[in-house]
Amino acid sequence: MRQLHILLPVALLLSACGMIDGNTDGPQPSRTTERLPAATGETRQCLANLSSRGVEYRRLPDRNFANGCRAIGAVQLVQVGTPTRNLGAMTCPLADRYARWTREVLQPAAERHFGEQVSLVETFGTYGCRNISGTGRLSEHGKANAIDISAFNLSGGRRITVLNGWNNSDSRERRFLRDLHRGACERFEIVLGPDANADHRNHFHFDMGSRGPYCR
Ligand SMILES: [Zn+2]
Repeated sequence: MRQLHILLPVALLLSACGMIDGNTDGPQPSRTTERLPAATGETRQCLANLSSRGVEYRRLPDRNFANGCRAIGAVQLVQVGTPTRNLGAMTCPLADRYARWTREVLQPAAERHFGEQVSLVETFGTYGCRNISGTGRLSEHGKANAIDISAFNLSGGRRITVLNGWNNSDSRERRFLRDLHRGACERFEIVLGPDANADHRNHFHFDMGSRGPYCR
């Protein structure tokens, strides 16, 4: 990790979301890219993987927005096994990793720490046309390639937020959230949480951008 600190533009990574003052509504789509194109080989394989895991999704037309923002090869997840609020356009690789993370990391962790299921994941969304906070570089959210996750509702009624749970006096909440973070680092390219910077005190940012791997 020390080496990564030297090699990577850490300041950019640590503020990959910039979501607080970000504009979450994209501009209107351009008319030229409305139709649903044939999926590339890579996307086709990814879509097949989603289907084989029982994930239900709807393919979205490729969209180019102003300022370089875009959603190419994206899907709308319909059913991943864990209800999730606020999911918008997601690139197929991001959707695939998210579905796997809910099954392989999230639900087992809830079972392990609380003996319960996660009944709802709350997110701040996926697509959002914005730059990385404090920079002129496009956030992965501007490519539908990132998700911000803020809270988890358990079947017994407990609600665990990243904001209050990360350093909670209840060690189960702390360990649960750290297990989710660690499991994400093994599956996504860039993972940021409360220890990354103040921007991420209230959510986990997972993305499939090319600047990783990075885990903080
Ligand atoms: Zn984010």
